[in-house]
Order: sequence, then C-alpha cells, then structure tokens
Amino acid sequence: MIIFRTILPYRKWLREQRSQGKSIGFVPTMGALHEGHLSLLRAAGNNGQTTVCSIFVNPTQFNDPNDFKLYPITTESDIQQLVSIGTDVLFLPSVEEMYPEGAIQQTYFELGNLENIFEGAFRPGHFQGVCQVVSRLLDIVAPHNIYMGQKDYQQCMVIARLLELKQSAISLKIMPTLRETSGLAMSSRNMRLSEEERKKATAIWRTMNEMVGKLSSIPVPDLEKEAEQKLLAAGFDKVDYCTPADATTLGPWQPGTDAVILCAAFMGKVRLIDNLLVHA
Ligand code: AMP
Repeated sequence: MIIFRTILPYRKWLREQRSQGKSIGFVPTMGALHEGHLSLLRAAGNNGQTTVCSIFVNPTQFNDPNDFKLYPITTESDIQQLVSIGTDVLFLPSVEEMYPEGAIQQTYFELGNLENIFEGAFRPGHFQGVCQVVSRLLDIVAPHNIYMGQKDYQQCMVIARLLELKQSAISLKIMPTLRETSGLAMSSRNMRLSEEERKKATAIWRTMNEMVGKLSSIPVPDLEKEAEQKLLAAGFDKVDYCTPADATTLGPWQPGTDAVILCAAFMGKVRLIDNLLVHA
C-alpha cells in the first residue's frame, strides 16, 4: 500500500493510473477502522478498481469540540487493516494540507431542507463541514466511484446532493450497514463504550425492528414516544430522535410508501446513530 500524506505525489501517481486506464474506487473515512469500513473497501476493490482510502478527522464537521477531541485515533492498526485487505492507497493528509487557507468554510452548499432536519437539526453546521471535506477530497482523489455506508443515511443523501451541485460524474455507491452479531451497528464511536454499554446499545436495533411491525397500525407520535421510552429504559441517557421518515425525502412518512426509521441517542457521552429501511 502506498501512503500519501500530501497532494502533489498523489496527483503524479494518479496520472500514471489514468494512463494505464485504471478506475479509482474511493472510500473516505475518519479512521478508527472496523469491518464496516473494510466492507466498503472490499466493494470498491471489485471489478478491478484501484482502491483509495482516506483517513482524515475533519475538524469542520464536529459541532461539539469535545466529540472532536475524543474521536479515536488508531492509525497504526488502521494501516495494518488496510494492508491486510489489499488496499492500494491510503491518503492521510494533515489539516494544513487539506485546508491551506485555514479551515474556515469558504463555500456555502445549498442543501435545502436536508440541512435542517434530523442530524442537521441536532448538529448545526455538520453537513456543511461534511460537504466541505468531501468536496475537497473528491477534487484531490478524483475517483470514478465513491463508496459510503447506509449507516449514515442522511449523509448519503447529502453527498448525492453535493455531487449534483458539483455537476460531478462520480458515482455514489451506497453499501449496507455492517453489524455485530448483537445487531449493534459497527461504528468507530463504539470504541468509547464499555462492554456493558455495548450490550445496552443493542436496544437501538431491537427498538427499530419492533417499530417495523407497528408502522401502519400506530400513529407516528405514539411510536416515537414508545421508542424513546424503550431506549431510556434500556440505559440510553438521551434520545435525539427515533422515528420513521420518508425514505426518499426524509420528510414525514405516509403509509404505503418506503420508510426509513432513523435513530440517534446518547449512551453516556457517546452519540450513536442507526437506521433501518422499511419497504412498503
Ligand atoms: P466514518 O469513518 O465514520 O466517517 O465512516 C466512513 C464511511 O464508513 C462512511 O461512509 C460510513 O457510512 C461508513 N460506515 C461506518 N460504519 C459503517 C458500518 N457499520 N457499515 C458500513 N459502512 C459503515
């Protein structure tokens, strides 16, 4: 695996790849890699694509400075995992390399209502920061395909919008969420949970699945209330939301249409998110 910490050598390498007619599959991450990240890279490695993973903990997408400070950094183990699955390139830039003019947001991305609901509402500025970093990474890495996890459902919608705004021909591939056998969605933030907390956190998966059977028979506000009570009873400390939304727009869900159950809740200071698609 080649590790690039700066842009120029990467671009020289990219030119060679292009001249050999190679296609680039790109997986942007914030590191603390787990099987979920690796599944995206494995998907990108199919069809003979050259795989590029980036690791960059982007300061501009954290609305909570403490969350940024506590974000796990496990670079050595990340590199080992990437090598073990045959990743071709790791792009591992510094903040200065990514934002030579400072990390202040230069461009406003017109995300419409996506920015004001769910993660957008609870993490003001988060999606602008995500667009800032992904836009910059796409300009540098110049992939043919970008692979992202359904685990961050709203983020996938935001990136689809970003690609439209950039009038980009890059194709977004959304991959399924990898879970522990307990149902807990794999997440870098799980590293901050104790064994006991990990067990309790499986309540998100259980609660979402229990909601599926009740979607068409119980009014949404009652479902939300019941879900919140279940999560609190299971040991979560605060529930930001646990509710069905329209799977295409994230607007209010109407019976007879595809739903996505979206959930965000705090276990201690660790905020976990997950979702479940329910086809009509
Ligand atoms: P992160 O490092 O958390 O920014 O995640 C990098 C990419 O990995 C994003 O596209 C995530 O949606 C994806 N991802 C995170 N967790 C999982 C998972 N459990 N299964 C599949 N993809 C995931």
